[in-house]
Amino acid sequence: MGTKQQITERISGLLRESKLSVTETRTKILELFMKSNGALEHSDFEKLAGQSFDRVTVYRTLQTFLDKGIIHKIPTTDTSVRYALCKSECSEHHHHDHHIHFKCEECGNTICLDETDVPQIQLPKGYAAHNVEVVVSGVCKSCK
Ligand SMILES: [Zn+2]
Ligand SMILES: [Zn+2]
Ligand SMILES: [Zn+2]
Repeated sequence: MGTKQQITERISGLLRESKLSVTETRTKILELFMKSNGALEHSDFEKLAGQSFDRVTVYRTLQTFLDKGIIHKIPTTDTSVRYALCKSECSEHHHHDHHIHFKCEECGNTICLDETDVPQIQLPKGYAAHNVEVVVSGVCKSCK
């Protein structure tokens, strides 16, 4: 978490590393990510909507962050889209988010389990896997 000052510094650092200029929308969206414990979905950003925040801008900003390796998409079992902050090893066009996502049935949060690798899956002969997404559902440690 950290103080507001630390968060502001982290945000400008992240944007600088990704060669993005600091805009109000980018700052506000990154602030939301840093203050949340888990994944965010579109409705979380829409709560921000005001004069300076139209949906198109929010959508475009999220797409930029995805492209730059700042956030990644989280697979969901419904049609919603969720995003979470990437770790520092992600860069433009090179995501390394091979971790398990955990969806809590109690609080509804989706959490990145960065320390937990996706298990190797044995596919039948002739199949080639390009991407494996694992979402585990259950009860998180805060709800236990
Ligand atoms: Zn990533
Ligand atoms: Zn929970
Ligand atoms: Zn994740």
